[in-house]
Amino acid sequence: MTIRDWARCREARVTTQLDAARGGVTTEEVAFAAEREGVAAERLRELVAAGRAIVPANVRHASLEPAAIGSELRCKINANIGSSSAASDIAAELAKLQLSVELGADAVMDLSTGGDIDAIRRAIVERSPVPVGSVPVYNALASQPDLSRLSAGDFLGAVERHARDGIDFVTVHAGLLRRHLPLVRDRVTGIVSRGGAIMAQWMLVHEAENPFYARFDELLELCRGFDLSLSLGDGLRPGSGADANDAAQFGELEVLGELVRRARERGVQAMVEGPGHVPLHLIPENVERERNVCDGAPFYVLGPLVTDVAAGYDHIASAIGGALAALHGVAMLCYVTPREHLGLPDLEDVRAGVVAHRIAAHAADVALDRPGARARDLAMSRARYRFDWNEMFRLALDPATARRLRAERQSGCELPDDCCSMCGPQFCAMKLSRELEKPGSRRSG
Ligand code: SF4
Repeated sequence: MTIRDWARCREARVTTQLDAARGGVTTEEVAFAAEREGVAAERLRELVAAGRAIVPANVRHASLEPAAIGSELRCKINANIGSSSAASDIAAELAKLQLSVELGADAVMDLSTGGDIDAIRRAIVERSPVPVGSVPVYNALASQPDLSRLSAGDFLGAVERHARDGIDFVTVHAGLLRRHLPLVRDRVTGIVSRGGAIMAQWMLVHEAENPFYARFDELLELCRGFDLSLSLGDGLRPGSGADANDAAQFGELEVLGELVRRARERGVQAMVEGPGHVPLHLIPENVERERNVCDGAPFYVLGPLVTDVAAGYDHIASAIGGALAALHGVAMLCYVTPREHLGLPDLEDVRAGVVAHRIAAHAADVALDRPGARARDLAMSRARYRFDWNEMFRLALDPATARRLRAERQSGCELPDDCCSMCGPQFCAMKLSRELEKPGSRRSG
């Protein structure tokens, strides 16, 4: 089928990317994402049809340049931005958006909880070329801080407002059920997901089941209306290594697997969120379990942080775990910044977080031989060996920082271009190695 056929499908009220893919239609969005990905459009359509990749693309997000998320594709990264009650400034959040996109973030999530949340969300969606996610329960709670007065309908209403504003994917903690709550009693860090903690409190206060689970069919109908994708949140993600892979997390995961299947049946794209804090040796089991339980739905993890003692450097603890998780099939890494556990990230924290996770994702892409990854590394190595600094900066994941660091050491000294201040001209190993290759050298002779 062609894009024109797709338009006819929309008229016939076949409105979602998943419906189109199943109907054999390669949408404009899938074709665009496939080209960026370096894979055949038909292959991406098959992955979307099977639910193993998603192309989050709310029909109201006009500035979107669609991207695909799936374990067979280049590993993606998400940057969390957004205000808090302590720091709320639209311009600051837009600057974080711009920097995240410049540095290669594939998605952003607006997690605003303070200030004019609606205005911040709309401004981010309006300017974002990458898919934008959100957690509507934050918005619901900010509007009505008394949980006893918040109804299930209020939560669904918040999702609808975000969908109308063009949000491409929403996190809903629909898999955390009343029966899971006793499982967190013996945990070291209890419930650390904000959304998870809100749902748990709501269930206790109202003595009712999780409203997103109880009214999941209504939620799916709402999603269909905007082609809103679901990011099924892990409300019971471990917040410490000691709680990793425990009965609470895996119990919730079983429910998320059920919800993935129900979403697919209604033509709604779904991915699954994951931890959190997981020591290195438990990451492969964590990822494999999700892939089996959720039938290959894209897995989107926060970190995972492989140790609990990296305060101030948690972006490194997270990137280490992210690289291993991506190697085992995670589709998207949510960044963590150096300010994690300590405060709301500023612009420099965003830079450090995005770059650290781009490195993690790229490392996995290289290991898995994804299109273009090894070629980029090879090009960088060749540029290094010929001391082509401009090409090195162009290929670097953070060109501005690479350029700045070299310039700082170059200024005021007489170093030639064919070395750097690390070893200096006399001891530059690459320079010495290149001289070995010159005609007349002992090696070349
Ligand atoms: S001086 Fe040392 S670090 Fe710098 S380019 Fe030469 S070998 Fe590499």
